[in-house]
Amino acid sequence: MAGKLPLFDPPDKSGYTNDGDGGFKLASKMPKINQTEKVILAIHGGTGLDRSELTATLEKGYRQGLTDALLAGFAKYKAAGSSTDIVEAAVKALEDNPLFNAGKGAVFNERSQHELDAAIMEGADLKAGAVAAVRTVKNPVALARLVMEKTPHVLLVGLGAERFAKKAGVRQVSQKYFYTDRRWNYLQELRGLDKASKKKTKKTKLVPSYPDRHMEWSTVGAVGLDSQGVLAAATSTGGLTNKMQGRVGDTPIIGAGTYADNHGCAVSATGHGEFFIRYGVAHEINALVRLLKWPLQKAADEVMQNRMKKAGGEGGVITLSPKGEVAFSFNSPGLYRGYVTESGKVFTGLYQN
Ligand code: ASP
Repeated sequence: MAGKLPLFDPPDKSGYTNDGDGGFKLASKMPKINQTEKVILAIHGGTGLDRSELTATLEKGYRQGLTDALLAGFAKYKAAGSSTDIVEAAVKALEDNPLFNAGKGAVFNERSQHELDAAIMEGADLKAGAVAAVRTVKNPVALARLVMEKTPHVLLVGLGAERFAKKAGVRQVSQKYFYTDRRWNYLQELRGLDKASKKKTKKTKLVPSYPDRHMEWSTVGAVGLDSQGVLAAATSTGGLTNKMQGRVGDTPIIGAGTYADNHGCAVSATGHGEFFIRYGVAHEINALVRLLKWPLQKAADEVMQNRMKKAGGEGGVITLSPKGEVAFSFNSPGLYRGYVTESGKVFTGLYQN
């Protein structure tokens, strides 16, 4: 029957019902958002720790950090800033907060170094800028914005990006600035795994270890909307603890961890970057919204709860439409997240409920 053919055929139909129009509906298991007002900024601080690992002090710190970032973005909105100003301000606040894996507090790679990635994108004309594997830039998101605005390129890496930062007068710091005990201790934990497995095989390991247990993906990101109706997205990270030197994740890859398109939506992601790159997560969500006119929650769930979950790609996304509708979707135990409405109402959440 022409016109009634399924738009897509979910490989595993559990959780889906026929939508009566040739397609399938996936019932969202995500916490319901009771949205009565336009959202102008949504943020994430990663998928976080298991509830059992989070002390009351840490929980308070995360909620405060999310609130501070939302208020920093909201101040730009009130001052008639662009969506790029809004998301940059929110991400900078998260980068400056040592609790999150971006800027100060970034994780260590296998050589005990910090290599940072960030991206920013504007939804009106699909302009984008990104930096990867930078070691001396205090706020990588600010440098990503300058790549977008001042160069003919989209992505600068390593030494070239740092040289550009110097020329552009962006604040540079030594590697010591990024240090925190918590990230250092976690690196030592993973190195212990490396040593143990080396002993077992008596061979030099080619690649460093990752734990079997749930990882703390604590990249930060923001999706914002200005008074002109323009969307923007920004994401920033230290990547994965014990990652190989030179490894770049999904965060600075436009269409993987970051995307913004006024004809679709803005997306920022956190999670196991290799999967987000391979599945083109941020762009795929945008394509479902732009081409199939799917609601944000349905599009985000299709990619995160269906494709990524089945592939074993753990993580979460935040999304925002040009009308100010927000949706979160994560297949991890939690997602540190929050949003602020146009009248300044702030919401933060850490877990499924
Ligand atoms: N997505 C980031 C990466 O793979 C990690 C994270 O979300 O914490 O680099």
